[in-house]
Amino acid sequence: MQKYIEKLKKFFLLRILRRKYARSGSCKGCGRCCREIYVKNARGLIREENEFKRLKKIHPFYSYLKIREKTETGLVFECAKLDKETNRCTVYNIRSFICKLYPQEEIFKIGGAISEECGYKFIPLENFEEVLNKIKKRRNR
Ligand code: SF4
Ligand code: SF4
Repeated sequence: MQKYIEKLKKFFLLRILRRKYARSGSCKGCGRCCREIYVKNARGLIREENEFKRLKKIHPFYSYLKIREKTETGLVFECAKLDKETNRCTVYNIRSFICKLYPQEEIFKIGGAISEECGYKFIPLENFEEVLNKIKKRRNR
């Protein structure tokens, strides 16, 4: 039964939602994702303060963020709503959807990654062999 459920889940993620990874695990409450945040707009990762000021007007979540550092990749933010002593979110019940849905597969699409210490893991839905077989099948058509 468990195998059947797993197969069904894989089918749903891969064929219906067109996901390439399945998320597993759970949050360990380390708070790292609230301390090291990259922000993206339609043009890519935010690199300049001016771009960020505009975003603040669009969604209240961005007003929580403070610039921590500037890297080659973009600006790195930390959230002012994180209690640094306990690593707890002080607005947990009213936190935004961005926080509720974290981490999502989209992180990889913008070249990001989740921390090694994160309790979540992303497992590829198809292994190398499965992908190779698909390509072979397509070529033989
Ligand atoms: S980095 Fe992962 S484990 Fe740590 S708080 Fe964020 S979601 Fe939870
Ligand atoms: S609002 Fe809460 S969950 Fe979201 S980034 Fe800030 S501290 Fe983390």
